[in-house]
Amino acid sequence: MKDESKVIREQFPRSQNREHSVPLYLTSSFIFDDAEQCRAVFANEEEGIIYSRYSNPNTTEFIQKVCALEGAEAGLAFSSGMAAVFASFAALLKSGDHIVSSRAIFGSTHQLFTQLFSRWGITHTYVDAGKPEDWEKAVQDNTKMIFLETPSNPGLELVDLEWLGGFKKKYPHIILNIDNCFATPYLQKPVQYGFDLVSHSATKYMDGQGRVLGGVVVGKQELIDEMLFFIRHTGPAMSPFNAWVLSKSLETLPLRMDRHCSNALVIAELLEQQPEIELVRYPFLPSHPQYELAKRQMKQGGGVVTFVLKGGYEQAQRFMDSLKMILITSNLGDSRTIVTHPASTTHSKLSEEERVNLGILAGSIRISVGLEAIEDIQEDILQALRNSN
Ligand SMILES: *Cc1c(COP(=O)(O)O)cnc(C)c1O
Repeated sequence: MKDESKVIREQFPRSQNREHSVPLYLTSSFIFDDAEQCRAVFANEEEGIIYSRYSNPNTTEFIQKVCALEGAEAGLAFSSGMAAVFASFAALLKSGDHIVSSRAIFGSTHQLFTQLFSRWGITHTYVDAGKPEDWEKAVQDNTKMIFLETPSNPGLELVDLEWLGGFKKKYPHIILNIDNCFATPYLQKPVQYGFDLVSHSATKYMDGQGRVLGGVVVGKQELIDEMLFFIRHTGPAMSPFNAWVLSKSLETLPLRMDRHCSNALVIAELLEQQPEIELVRYPFLPSHPQYELAKRQMKQGGGVVTFVLKGGYEQAQRFMDSLKMILITSNLGDSRTIVTHPASTTHSKLSEEERVNLGILAGSIRISVGLEAIEDIQEDILQALRNSN
């Protein structure tokens, strides 16, 4: 089946009620026919659902859909994207281990590396994603994991997934782990390049309507089994309600992504023609330094466009305050178009030099392009550009 069909037809087995659409299983535990069955399920001798911290029909269905899209063997669902990303490290690494990571990663993941893992004896080295020699130099004897995001937030830099898959073959014991949230498995499938783990904030495009938090990690069966021990006993489980919402949302993920991407490309092209704007970054713009790579590893360019306004922070502020329809909020991947100013918000804790390294300038604006009529998004952006000058 094609992706568009899998997300609709992948379904938890129907109950004796013969429901068409999968119901919400709001129950913390599940019953057994007798004491012997209970013993056998606990002993893993018989399959069965025990307790919603371990698994639940709604979370199972959500996970199966993500596995089908990613082409992954198994997966686990989490209460948030950060719970998923954290578990992908904490369940598999120990004191003394080392992580090699691309420099441009989500702010909270950076905080994990620098503030928490440093306390627990897990070290990291950041590399410039586009420089192969950087990855080579960073690997140490105790390196256990390579982690990255592509496209990065908000600079929209790419990492060559095929190259990295080949690089990893030299180090079979290193786990290759990617946060695939920006691209979604509809646009980009890291497992096909040899990635071991793929994590997601389901809060973004998977929900797509700014309602619930969620996270998911999919990948190799043996790694997911090892992670299962961690989540069973630390409890970052996704709620059945959120899983039910997210599983329904996935039914429209391909349809929504097509529209996010086509709207974003139009906005990126429009912005590139405006005299008030210094630079526009979008993976599927021919002016993107990694345009060829983007075309190779992504089906479309994604829903996020980043641009730099001439005139720095004051101009960026005036532009954002002049928008009428588009609101300022820190989410992304929503049906509503969203604008943020990374330098004063998500990346304000970094030094100016660190920000410039990530391509974040005082005049940088990130737009998560929504599903509204393209004419309305265009009109709001153009009037704000004119009225803020
Ligand atoms: C939002 C986001 C996260 C964190 O997800 P939450 O669901 O907010 O916890 C992690 N990685 C990336 C790339 C994100 O955009």
